[in-house]
Amino acid sequence: MEIRLEKASAGERKAKPDASALGFGRHMADHMFVMAWSQEKGWHDAAVTKYASFAMDPAAMVLHYGQAIFEGLKAFRGKDSRIHLFRPTANFERMNRSAERMCMPQIPVDEVMTGLRMLIEADADWVPDVQGASLYIRPTMIATEPALGVRPSNRYLFYIITCPVGAYYPEGFNPVKIYVTDKYVRAVPGGVGAAKTAGNYAASIMAAVEAQKAGYTQVLWLDAVERKYVEEVGTMNIFFAIGDEVITPPLAGTILPGITRQSVIQLLKDWGGKVVERKISIDEVFDAAENGRLKEIFGTGTAAVISPVGALHFKERDCTINNGRTGELSQRLFDHLQGIQYGELPDSHHWVETL
Ligand SMILES: *Cc1c(COP(=O)(O)O)cnc(C)c1O
Repeated sequence: MEIRLEKASAGERKAKPDASALGFGRHMADHMFVMAWSQEKGWHDAAVTKYASFAMDPAAMVLHYGQAIFEGLKAFRGKDSRIHLFRPTANFERMNRSAERMCMPQIPVDEVMTGLRMLIEADADWVPDVQGASLYIRPTMIATEPALGVRPSNRYLFYIITCPVGAYYPEGFNPVKIYVTDKYVRAVPGGVGAAKTAGNYAASIMAAVEAQKAGYTQVLWLDAVERKYVEEVGTMNIFFAIGDEVITPPLAGTILPGITRQSVIQLLKDWGGKVVERKISIDEVFDAAENGRLKEIFGTGTAAVISPVGALHFKERDCTINNGRTGELSQRLFDHLQGIQYGELPDSHHWVETL
């Protein structure tokens, strides 16, 4: 498939935001990658073009029934000023698994990788060169057929937009306070919890708002059936260091299979640690905290990489983890993953693609 390149003119380029005040997802770069799909033509009209609005029919199926999937990954500028992508193919392969679950077409991974490289090259000057900052990449697919019947759309749009994002921890790597909910659930067995699909996030907002009102940063989700086993924290996977083991819930269809999660499991194994993927109940976590065996809790995801948890609240129980300070393991994983991402540490698993 040929990918057209239509670069924004000098006059169409936007002013870059100040590198110290990037925030998350507020300043889109100058270009985007777009590609259309129809029943008749398959994928067609692939192009890297200037960032612009879409004209959409008000009956477009995504607006009514939510056939929408997305991904999130980052490009990092190394000290040698080259640009590094972290495990991009893993994201596009996961997107294809989300697409399958949502009855959407498979994307051609090699072609999309070519499109992504062209896009990042067109917007290379949007990749920040500040330590901790990066270019966040958001591949998305939406159903565009104008029709109000509930069935798979016969037209889709795939696109990639990017935005520079600041360091997740501008004031240092600080543990967060987490609210455990058994009132709301994120995903049910047989549902779409393993897909990165828009509706999962719409459904999660109310619990997050209530947790924030109560003074917590994020929600920890329990399983929908027994409301007993830990699933995820906010939009991150979760790990518990208890005794000499590191435990994370298994991928059983209700949890998003995080690429950071998988990378952390691999690093822990490389270091000779004991990592176990098994069900862990919230009571086991609080009991381990009470008898002094709970050493650390941390979340994993592209945005924060590692997010240490300093405190948990569940019903009338509260616990503090590692005295509310960042644990050694969280710090080591964070430093190591960042080191690989910025091209400063050996990439023994070939996770990084350098442009
Ligand atoms: C994206 C996401 C994650 C983290 O996945 P990464 O590939 O590590 O970024 C975890 N949980 C949910 C619900 C997510 O949407």
